Amino acid sequence: GDPFIQVSNLKKFYPVRGGVLQRVVAWVQAVDNVSFNIRQGETLGMVGESGCGKTTVGRTMLRLIEPTSGQALFNGADIFKLKDAELKAMRRNIQIVFQDPYSSLDPRTQIGEQVLEGLKIHNIGTPSDRWDRVMEILKTVGLESYHARRYPHEFSGGQRQRVGIARALILRPQFIVCDEPVSALDVSIQSQVLNLLKDLQKEFNLTYLFIAHNLSVVEHISDRVAVMYLGKMVELTGRDELFRNPQHPYTQALMSAIPVADPRFKRKRIILRGDVPSPVNPPKGCRFHPRCPMAMDVCAQQEPEFKEVSPDHWVACWLME
Ligand code: SF4
Repeated sequence: GDPFIQVSNLKKFYPVRGGVLQRVVAWVQAVDNVSFNIRQGETLGMVGESGCGKTTVGRTMLRLIEPTSGQALFNGADIFKLKDAELKAMRRNIQIVFQDPYSSLDPRTQIGEQVLEGLKIHNIGTPSDRWDRVMEILKTVGLESYHARRYPHEFSGGQRQRVGIARALILRPQFIVCDEPVSALDVSIQSQVLNLLKDLQKEFNLTYLFIAHNLSVVEHISDRVAVMYLGKMVELTGRDELFRNPQHPYTQALMSAIPVADPRFKRKRIILRGDVPSPVNPPKGCRFHPRCPMAMDVCAQQEPEFKEVSPDHWVACWLME
């Protein structure tokens, strides 16, 4: 069927100003010409190191960050063009779960009040309906009804993330941007929260954009995976295909860093030179060329196109030519 979310040529550039006149002296190219789609009920994992633009992509989906240009079709409308009332209506359908639920919770307000906030904003139900819904949603995310009267500091990290998920779910959205939802949690708690997100997806037919900085986190939850580097999408394909057959040298390097239990599958660790360069005036040509172990002359000169190298497998690299 048609893609549920279709993002085309998304760009987000920030001006850097300098001098007495505060003229624009450079641009931070946070997201540069990124396109992808997400089918209904699937999870698109989006992976990359900090500064790769993945969080910016996620936030533009909710217009928490305004894009510089591009299009994002959702239910037939371009999210980037919506005006006030339509934008508010769209926000019932698109929610976000943040990395650190603690900083998005008010320390002085009981959890129940905070979970029902969305219902209030959108004027849904009577006060008693709202409380019924809160009780129901707390149970759905694995919390107890007495938790509604507790304050954020009384919760563990994992429980707070369950509260974050409850807040996102209360409006029964269709699409949720999960912005590194387990990165701040202990490894033992991570899988619980990932399993919860998976169960909720099945139960409510949710569609996820799941953002993470490491491939092993997205492996278990994603149907397809997009790899980002310095504002560009460098590879996009099905989860199994990506793990079996990574094509982009950057993806291969990320993959080689995943610890494997079985020594038969041990890969040679690819160590990249240097750090991720700044997205202010990023390298010309392929942005990965200063660190790429396979770089050729052309890589520093011309940008490789993002191309479909086999069915449903997209890569931006001159090696594919
Ligand atoms: Fe490496 Fe060149 Fe491919 Fe970029 S285009 S990833 S520098 S081989």
